[in-house]
Formats: sequence, C-alpha cells, structure tokens
Amino acid sequence: MRSQMTVCGRSFEDFLSTIERFHGCTAPGVVIGGFMVDLAQEHIGPDVEADAIVEATHCLPDAIQLFTPCTYGNGWMKVIDWDKFALTLYNKKTLEGVRVWLDLEKIRLFPNIYNWYMRLTPKGDLPLGVLLKSIEEAGRRMLSCAPVQVVQYYGKIRKGKSGVCSKCGEAYPLSQGDCCLSCQGKSYFKTK
Ligand SMILES: [Zn+2]
Repeated sequence: MRSQMTVCGRSFEDFLSTIERFHGCTAPGVVIGGFMVDLAQEHIGPDVEADAIVEATHCLPDAIQLFTPCTYGNGWMKVIDWDKFALTLYNKKTLEGVRVWLDLEKIRLFPNIYNWYMRLTPKGDLPLGVLLKSIEEAGRRMLSCAPVQVVQYYGKIRKGKSGVCSKCGEAYPLSQGDCCLSCQGKSYFKTK
C-alpha cells in the first residue's frame, strides 16, 4: 500500500527520491530534517518570507536547501556548528519564528530512531529501510517546536573593504590583516 502522507508538499516516495537525488542517498538525517522543515513551514505560514538557521553542519542544511528557498550560498540560511538536531525558520522582517527539534523524550517511543540518533546501534545492524520505515511511522511525533525571537545570526553579513595581498596577489578582506589568511600560514593547502 502506498503511503498517503505528504511531506513538504510531496508524497513520501517523491520526498525520498528528491532527497536521494540531491544528497546522494536517503540519509535519515535529511529525511528527519524534511519533516522538521515541513512542521516549521506550517507554523510560519505560506505568506511569510522566512530565513533559516540550522544548528548542525551535516544533513539539516540539505533539508533546508531542498525544501525552502534558503540556501547557504544566498545567505538566507545560517549554519551554526553546534551538532544539535534543530532548526529555526523565522520571518526575516520581524525575526519571529519557530524552532523545531528532534525530541529525545519523544523518540524513546521509536527505539530505532533513538538508537540511531544516540549512535547506540552498531553500523550495519539497523538496515536503512527499517529505519526509514520508523521515521515515516513517527512523522511529526518525533518532533517538538516552540515559538522564538531570533536575536543573533540573522541578516546580511557585512563585508569590509578589500585589498590585494602583498604575497599572493589575490584579493582578500583587509580585516584579515596585512596579508591574506592563507599567506599568514592558515591555509588549508600547500602548493605542489
Ligand atoms: Zn595572500
């Protein structure tokens, strides 16, 4: 029997294949993230221009980028490296919004999700299909949400003046110092 559930305006099957095409696999974190976006969008309402803040660098940003107009690149999504499974959608004018999180107490009712999230199951012991079934079954019952007022991490990040690095000759923000961060020895690469 095909599921009648819709998530982010799609059938569950379409929702999963959308995630797979973008993310490379139906990662449980992105699937749960999609449910979180779905719930947050319902609270925010369709007529509000919403920006997003996600509290983890993995999985959640992709759920935002897939199911809202916010991307990392357009600046409407801020990514905070807290490794928490939570996100906020908020009205970009009033900064009022809703924070949604994966609720540890609630997922105790869904041991597969709990064990996956708390990394209690050795890799391979919980087949992806079984976990996805549990996530589908849980749906919003694994989530909590609360209204919030955003007080940080909103708006455009102002760029300062640019200059030319005296060592590499590339443009860089002068706020970084006398030469660019790379030439200050903080580079992620060495030239071969
Ligand atoms: Zn340089």
